[in-house]
Parts: sequence; structure tokens; C-alpha cells
Amino acid sequence: MQITGVGVGHGIAVGPALRMPDPIGEPPDVDSQAEASDEYRRVETTLHAVTDELVALGHQAGGDAEEILEAQSLMAQDPAVVDDISRRIGDGKTAERAVFEAYEQYAKVLDALGEVPAARGADVRDVARRVIAKLRGVALPTVPQSDAPYVLVANDLAPADTATLDLRQVIAVVTRDGSTSSHTAILARNKNLVAVVGATGCDAIINGQTVIVDAEHGEVVVDPERSAVSAAAERGGTVSTPRPLTPGRLADGTAIPLLANVGSPEEAAPAVALGAEGVGLFRTEFLYLDARTAPSVELQRSRYRDLMAAFSGRKVVVRVLDAGADKQLAFLGHTHEENPALGRRGLRALREHEDVLRDQLTALAEAQNDTGADLWVMAPMVADVDETAYFIGVARSLGLSTVGITVEVPSAAVLADQIVPLCDFVSIGTNDLTQYTLAADRQLGSVAHYQDPWHPAVLRLIKLIGDAARVSNTPVGVCGESASDPLMAVTLVGLGADDLSMSPGALADVRATLAGVTLEQARELATLALVQHSAADARAAVANALA
Ligand code: PEP
Ligand code: MG
Repeated sequence: MQITGVGVGHGIAVGPALRMPDPIGEPPDVDSQAEASDEYRRVETTLHAVTDELVALGHQAGGDAEEILEAQSLMAQDPAVVDDISRRIGDGKTAERAVFEAYEQYAKVLDALGEVPAARGADVRDVARRVIAKLRGVALPTVPQSDAPYVLVANDLAPADTATLDLRQVIAVVTRDGSTSSHTAILARNKNLVAVVGATGCDAIINGQTVIVDAEHGEVVVDPERSAVSAAAERGGTVSTPRPLTPGRLADGTAIPLLANVGSPEEAAPAVALGAEGVGLFRTEFLYLDARTAPSVELQRSRYRDLMAAFSGRKVVVRVLDAGADKQLAFLGHTHEENPALGRRGLRALREHEDVLRDQLTALAEAQNDTGADLWVMAPMVADVDETAYFIGVARSLGLSTVGITVEVPSAAVLADQIVPLCDFVSIGTNDLTQYTLAADRQLGSVAHYQDPWHPAVLRLIKLIGDAARVSNTPVGVCGESASDPLMAVTLVGLGADDLSMSPGALADVRATLAGVTLEQARELATLALVQHSAADARAAVANALA
């Protein structure tokens, strides 16, 4: 397949394609349930945070990028837009929707003024997306990480993404939108990066396909003949061939499946392209977050089917709705709580609204029947035997066969010898296990330094779970972010983890590190970490021993 666009510069590059994840979606146009003054205060704080972030990114990037990012930071403070947001909130819109509409209006005015202002419209929309992501408390989709150089394919790139690209990883860029005057093109030119922008057909490129990006001719060749790759190399092009994506394995051959944490079915294909052997944590909150009522069984079933189809024949671990804490939902009766992380979160809220839980489990069981998937289902925020038995009972009664829990509340870890044998599997959520063990809110910057899973107290709780799993022969995985740290991944295996689930971008590094140690060595490293007196010492002990 050949796609044409506008080339930037004269270079040529060949490599595997990796797509930028889709941008965050448009906020729904629903009536706000919050006080307008509270909504406006949230926006005001967020606009300041986005302004600071863009200025800081600009300083870091320097040159033209600094100027562009500073201009964007001003868009986050534009008085006309800020007034417009305030008016829309006053009319009953949610903060997210008001931000979306006000910036979209501004961008449309720029779009109508011709090519150069229209290119700035893209920057305005990027500011809106940044603000909305922060308001929702979710991370913006970022440039994928890979251990092998690749060609980045995107609808468009925000100036901040282009300015901060790691050129050891990204050898070329192909975008669907954009023109010679777009900021993607300007910054690509500055960075001497091979790029083709306005490549309308690039939506068809899928992760892992080899592409030749020929900037001189404004051409992108997908799945080229070998002779075309050789010709590109002869023209002095950068040629990167993908590294094989082998399954996770220790040096002694012990299999440690490496799975992906995903938050929507759309994240499945990029995860497979990076070698995910299945899904270790599918966060289902995306179906509920912007909803005023719980989604129907039919809607859920079709979304679960999409995910299961992408991982056909491979394990898919789905976590039922984890609302509460930072994700409050009116239809679960959430009202103000002084300490929401310690409140009606996860299974606690679902148990009080069993209809919502039953609908979700029914949709999962039906999607499994439709696809024949290897489905494992678990509950979040489980504290004791009673809650474990409750969840397993409801899930089994609705036809699910592999049922377990996330161990993320310290009480569940302490009671692992009682809880683990009841489950078909358990998965350790080290993010929450760390926050609750160290009694430090994971959302609060001022106590962020406590949020370190290397803390020996956390490691000891993980060991309790690993030991209980070994005694009862129950599979145990880790789905917290700690599994993305290669040194921690080895330590977790030593503490008893049978598989590890992480952001797909981390798979390659973890795969490479695990391949260098045996199970016996991993256990020795874990023993070493357990006796340290601080998180820093535990990490250093493992790092030194492996050096
Ligand atoms: C965890 O707590 O470690 C976890 C994986 O879940 P979340 O980050 O969604 O709370
Ligand atoms: Mg959690």
C-alpha cells in the first residue's frame, strides 16, 4: 500500500509502525450535578496547572518549541475563553463539557481563517484535551515506548509531543492531519526528523507493520518489498527491523507471562503489537465514568467482546467496576466523603448496588460465551474473607468460572492464608496496597514519596500473598504499576508472582531483565530486599546484586 502526503525534509526511514493512542474523547453533554462555583474553581486550578506544565515543557525543549509551547500556555489563560467557560458552567454544563465547547468554538474560528491560523486550531484543541484529562484525573495518551526504534503514526501530534520526542526511539513520523505550516511539521524540521504530514490514508496502518517513510517524495509505503527496503538503505535511510517479541521467560526457562494493563478495548491492538501475552488488568471504569446511569448489559457485552476478540486464545483478566475514591458516581449513591480513598470504594459500593454488579458480571459471562475467551474476573478493594466469599458466590452464580480478587487492602494481604484458597486466582494491586500500607493518599503530591512499592512493609505483605498462593497452588499475578519496573519485576517473581501485568510500553524492558535471572536468583534477590530498612535500600540492594 502506498500513501501520499506532504514530506518534511529529504530523509528516508524504514521501521515498524507504532500508533499514538487515540486522544481522549469528547465529554458528554449532560447536566452538571455539581455546584457551578465548585466546577469553576476546578477549572481555574486546572488551567493554571496546564499553563505551568506547558511552560515547563517549553523550557525543557528550548528553541522554537519553547516559543510554540509558551504561545499554547497563553491559550490556557485567554480571558475570552475563560469567560466563555465560566458562562457555560453557569448554564449548567459540567466543567469538562464547558472547557471542550469553549475551546472548540475558539478553534473553529481559527479553522475558518485559512491554513496558517487553522494549524493553530490544532494547538487550541490540544490545550482543551490537556485540561479535560486533568479534570478527569486521567493521564493524557502519550507517545508509545519501545525498546526498538519505530515510526510513529498519529492522527496529529501536539506540539508538546513533537517537541519532546525521543529521537533514539522515533525514527520518523507520519500524521494524518497537518500541513507544511503545522507545528508538527515545523518542529519535525527543526529536529531533522523524517516526516510525512497530511497522509490521509495512514489510518489504515496498524501497529507492527513495516513502513518506509520517504519525506523527499511525500510517500509512505506500507509492507514494502524487500528490494524497496534495500533501496531505502542505499539512499542512506535509517532502517530499523523489529526485535522478536518472545514470551516472558526467566533464564532457567520458567515462564512468566507478561500481560498488559488496559483501560479500553482500543488499547488492545497496541498492546498485542508490543508483545502482551494477554490482559492482566482490564479496568472497566471507562464504561461508567461519564454516565449518569449504569451502562446496559448489551452495551457492556459488546465492548467486552471487542476486547476479548483482540486477545483471542489468551488470558483476559477483567476487574469489575472500581468506583469511589477519585471516581465518584452518582448512580452508586456516592456523596461527599472526607476521605474517599477510605470510603465506599470498589466492591463496597457494588455490594450496596448489587444490580450494577450483577449486570456487569452477566455482560462478562455473555461476552465470554460469545467469544470463548479465557476470562478471569476479579473484584477490587476486597478487605476480608466475607467480601471474598460474597464476590465469588455472586460471580459463580452468574456463570463465571475463574473468579478471584485484587489484593490491595492490607487486611486482605494479612489474611492471605484464609482468603487465597477461596479464590481461583489473585492479583496484587501494588498501587493501592502501597497507599494503604503507608497510609499516604496516592493522589496527594505532598505525600508522594511514601508511594513506593519497594518499601519493605509492602514487600513483606506481597510475600504473605505469594506464600499463601504457593501453599494452596493458586495462581498469583501483579497488576500494579510496580511490575513495570524491571528490578521490581524480578523481585516480585522472587516473592511468588506467576505473571506480571503492566503498561504495554514497559513490556520490552521487563522481558529483557527477566531473561537474565533464574527463579532461584529471583528468590535470593527478594530475600535481600525484604530485610532492608527502607524503600531506597531495598531497591539499591537488588540493583547492586544484579549489577
Ligand atoms: C492497584 O491498585 O495497584 C491497581 C492496579 O489498581 P488501580 O491503580 O486501578 O487502583
Ligand atoms: Mg487499585
